[in-house]
Amino acid sequence: MFNAFKTFSVLSPLAFIAFLSTSFLLKNSIKQTDTNKVKPNIIIVLTDDQGWADVGFNGGSDIPTHNLDRIAKEGVVFSNGYVSHPYCSPSRAGLLTGRYQARFGHDCNMPYHGENDETIGTPLSEKMISEALKEQGYITSAIGKWHVGDHPKLHPTEQGFDYWFGFPGGGMNYWGIPDGPLKTIYKNGVEVSQEELSYLTDDFTNEAITFINENKNKPFFMYLAYNAPHAPDHATKQYLDNTKHIEYAGRSIYGAMVNGVDVGLGKIDSTLTALSIKDNTIIVFLSDNGGRVEHADNRPNRGHKGMLFEGGIKVPFCMSWPAGLSGEQTYAHPVSSLDLFPTLLNIAGGDAKLEKQLDGIDLMPYLENKVDGKPHELLFWRSSGGFEYAIRKGGFKLYKSAYKNKTLLFDLENDPLERHDIASFNSDIVQSLEAEYTKWNSKNIAPRWFDPHEKNVIKEETKFKNKRANSLSPKLKKG
Ligand code: CA
Repeated sequence: MFNAFKTFSVLSPLAFIAFLSTSFLLKNSIKQTDTNKVKPNIIIVLTDDQGWADVGFNGGSDIPTHNLDRIAKEGVVFSNGYVSHPYCSPSRAGLLTGRYQARFGHDCNMPYHGENDETIGTPLSEKMISEALKEQGYITSAIGKWHVGDHPKLHPTEQGFDYWFGFPGGGMNYWGIPDGPLKTIYKNGVEVSQEELSYLTDDFTNEAITFINENKNKPFFMYLAYNAPHAPDHATKQYLDNTKHIEYAGRSIYGAMVNGVDVGLGKIDSTLTALSIKDNTIIVFLSDNGGRVEHADNRPNRGHKGMLFEGGIKVPFCMSWPAGLSGEQTYAHPVSSLDLFPTLLNIAGGDAKLEKQLDGIDLMPYLENKVDGKPHELLFWRSSGGFEYAIRKGGFKLYKSAYKNKTLLFDLENDPLERHDIASFNSDIVQSLEAEYTKWNSKNIAPRWFDPHEKNVIKEETKFKNKRANSLSPKLKKG
């Protein structure tokens, strides 16, 4: 050994250089291999009440969303991307657990006023994506609106998030003015003074950038849940300037709130690039439900937040991952926010099949064309314990609508805008979809609390009908 080494080192300087080069190349190739195996960072960006057409990547043209559109172009746009509920809290409960929230009775918003007790909200017995990713070695962070458990025992830090900056409730003014325990900004449970805050959208962006900088060398998971563009309608001069071309004031302010998110995503994207971690960072973007009744744009879809028409449950939805997913793709088969948990867990090195409770599907084999077919044969929605429900099976969608006080059937392949109810001459399909719902619902539990949704539906629909009636000629009104 000694002689051989001596001979090699003394007599073969060229060989030694070759050895060093080989060693360097090997090292590099090992590094490359390791890089391929490095767990990607994961960022889920959730907006609140943003409409289908309120992004450029779905054809919107009045609100500037250039950063978001670029991120969408770098990845996959889901053109039939659904959430599991048409409004805030239950939709978030579904996304975070990968389960239909009716499984654990979370299909109503929590009571708004005052701090609810620890039995109201997603229970700790449900496993959240944050907990699953922590098991894979991720550092986890929740920033923004929480709204799946008001009580401190149900806050993000109790649900697998190492770090939390945000407010517990369903909505808050954007100036950070505290208004009770649900509408106060906390950092890991400690109240943040209003002086430290500027405009919540910017504050959340800044926190996100700090978290990324501090954790750039670890695999991290960030759940960045902006409350924009949910009411109240507050915006900064900078963002209002960016939408001053929109003449209708309500839309212009709403657009400014969306633009604030877009500017934030631009800064986050630049941070990832500057730290050389952008390629191996997954960014998922979606809205928690369809666009709000006023100022959002769900066109051409029918309906809005709260309804189970497409406009209430189909949302702007995209996912980018430069190192792992080809860009410039549109995926048209229906996908669900429930799919994020298994998809991201498997990417992170876990095994979603071992998580028996999940209702979502790992989308990666579909996005990579490794399997044929559709991720979902069936998708279900249930509001207020079945006050409203919907089933999508293939191209058909059944909607038991409280708004319209009847059960509607649509052939989405030929009527994607839900203009023609075909229930009355397809009773066999109606019956079969009703049977699917009954079977699915037998594995759910009753809502563990109720919200005013039923009352609101009746109020809204009455107002809608009265306004239409009042537009008629006096002769017809008399008739
Ligand atoms: Ca919402």
